[in-house]
Amino acid sequence: MVIEAWPASRQAWERTKASLSGGVSTGLRASMKPHPLFFRGGSGPRLTDLDGNSYVDYVLGWGPVILGHGHPKLTAAVAAQLPYGSTYGAGHLLEAEAAEAVLARIPGTERVLWCSTGSEANLVALRLARAATGRRRFIKFGGHYHGWTDPMLIGYRPGPDGTLGLGSLGQNPATLDDVRLVAWGDLDTTAGLLTTSGTDIAAVFCEPVLCNSGVLEPPPGFLEGLRELCDDTGTVLVFDEVITGFRIDSGGAVTRYGVTPDLVVLAKAIAGGFPLAAVAGRADILDRTTAGVVHAGTYNGNPVVLAAAIATLEALGEPGVYDDFERRGRALADGMRAAFARYDVPVTVHQVGPVVQCLPGVRKARTFDDFLAADQEFYDRLTVQLLRRGVFTLPGGRWYLSTAHTDADIAETVAVIDESLGATLD
Ligand code: PLP
Repeated sequence: MVIEAWPASRQAWERTKASLSGGVSTGLRASMKPHPLFFRGGSGPRLTDLDGNSYVDYVLGWGPVILGHGHPKLTAAVAAQLPYGSTYGAGHLLEAEAAEAVLARIPGTERVLWCSTGSEANLVALRLARAATGRRRFIKFGGHYHGWTDPMLIGYRPGPDGTLGLGSLGQNPATLDDVRLVAWGDLDTTAGLLTTSGTDIAAVFCEPVLCNSGVLEPPPGFLEGLRELCDDTGTVLVFDEVITGFRIDSGGAVTRYGVTPDLVVLAKAIAGGFPLAAVAGRADILDRTTAGVVHAGTYNGNPVVLAAAIATLEALGEPGVYDDFERRGRALADGMRAAFARYDVPVTVHQVGPVVQCLPGVRKARTFDDFLAADQEFYDRLTVQLLRRGVFTLPGGRWYLSTAHTDADIAETVAVIDESLGATLD
């Protein structure tokens, strides 16, 4: 069946537009094609919209729903905690139990600091790095996303003035001077900045796999090079593993690539869809939050989300999870490549574990500029055809798999990709 229209979603959108800006809860969701959909629920890898259509879900809440929707053990863990209250603003043992689970999975981490969102966790990581080094600026790489805050949004996408600097109206231009922007993979420029006196660099931030702009893996030796440079110059190395953490391996990029940063920023998959984030890493840096570095948060260490995190990490620890992610991710990527080849449409498909990136119109993608060169207009039209055939995907080309996606789901989806490509080209 091919869906022609979404009348109930359209009606819901008309209603939400009267109370929410753009009818959505974050601006990006307004850009979903052909218009935002509204859902009544999800189960495993599927979502059902208000019109009663069912979709295989590759959006997964923009990443967190790594166990699929309504995972029984996660649901039970949250339900078991709820009668005991939703937040205490004081100590309880789930804080330590969840922290111990993180420390056990990510080598080199000694402490965990709980937060609620990835944006906030990156900001406190920056403050900690500044406190630890006595320096002000930080290096970030073009196209890397570390949240929507003023300093971190610099260099994510070309902004309102068309340059890769400020990303948003209303962003404080003074923060531009805090950032030194480098191209992903450019170790020489990074080294130059770190070793020139007076650059005042406290930290190097990166997505160890550039998931937000093309799922670009680090060039061979690059993460090791960053580690060495940071060691030599006393700079804090921060891996923003909001996407990669607990997803591309049990210890994220740290165990997948064998490089240990000073701080790891975590969110999304860590609590299976509940609002939890963390900074994990060296005790001598993180212990500063009780020695002069201010980090506060009413919901920090919330018992409900920590119960969710413990259940999620336990489920991800079951045998075979990461092998299955790799195998199914590869099957989806291979199927995508084969479908594009059949229609003779150039494409680059990247895959790291359960994260897949489709870049139509691009024959090779190594850099942020290659990502920007992808034919997004074509991809937008493809996503509508996929949606009409029951496959729900993100704008921009990234796909996420959960533990709930089966081989049969992937096979069904690959057939839908083929058919949708045909319809897009018609
Ligand atoms: N860092 C990365 C790599 C992300 O992908 C995101 C969100 O997508 C963030 C930080 C910000 O996290 P949050 O949306 O929880 O603030």
